[in-house]
Amino acid sequence: MSMPCEERVRVSIHLSRKLYDEMISHSRHSLPNEACGILIQEASFSSTHELHIHTFIPLPNHAAHPTQQFVIHPIDMIPYLTDQRRTIVGIFHSHPTAVSTPSAEDLATLWHTIPTHWILSLQHEDKPDLQVYSLKKTTTTAYHKLSFVIGQ
Ligand SMILES: [Zn+2]
Repeated sequence: MSMPCEERVRVSIHLSRKLYDEMISHSRHSLPNEACGILIQEASFSSTHELHIHTFIPLPNHAAHPTQQFVIHPIDMIPYLTDQRRTIVGIFHSHPTAVSTPSAEDLATLWHTIPTHWILSLQHEDKPDLQVYSLKKTTTTAYHKLSFVIGQ
C-alpha cells in the first residue's frame, strides 16, 4: 500500500466485546437495509492518545434506498451533540452485501469531522468484518484505515 499519509494517526481505539456484539446484532436485525448509529465516549475519558467507545446508539436509517445507503438525520443526533458529558466519537453503518470499505457516497458524508467511521460488512454472513477509518476532507474526502482492540 503506498497511500501517502502525512499525519499518522496514533490514537489507540478501544471497543468492548459487548458493543461489538451490539453492532453486529443491530446490523443483522436491520437486513436487508444498511444499519447505522453513533458511538459515544464519556467526555471525562477524553485523551489525545486513546479513544474509548462507551456506548453504541443505533439510529434509524432515513435513506430513500436504505438497502444501498444510509442517512442519519441530524435531528436524531441533537440529544448527543448537546450533551456535555458525552461526545460522539464515531459514526457506524453496515454494508449488507459489500466489503467494509467506504463507498464514494460514504466519503461525501456530512459527518467527516467525527474522528472515526466504522463499517461492518455482512457480505459473508458467518464472518462479519468490522473496520474503522478516519476521514479527511480535502478537495475530495480521503480515508485512512485505523486499527482497534476488542477487550472486556
Ligand atoms: Zn457505506
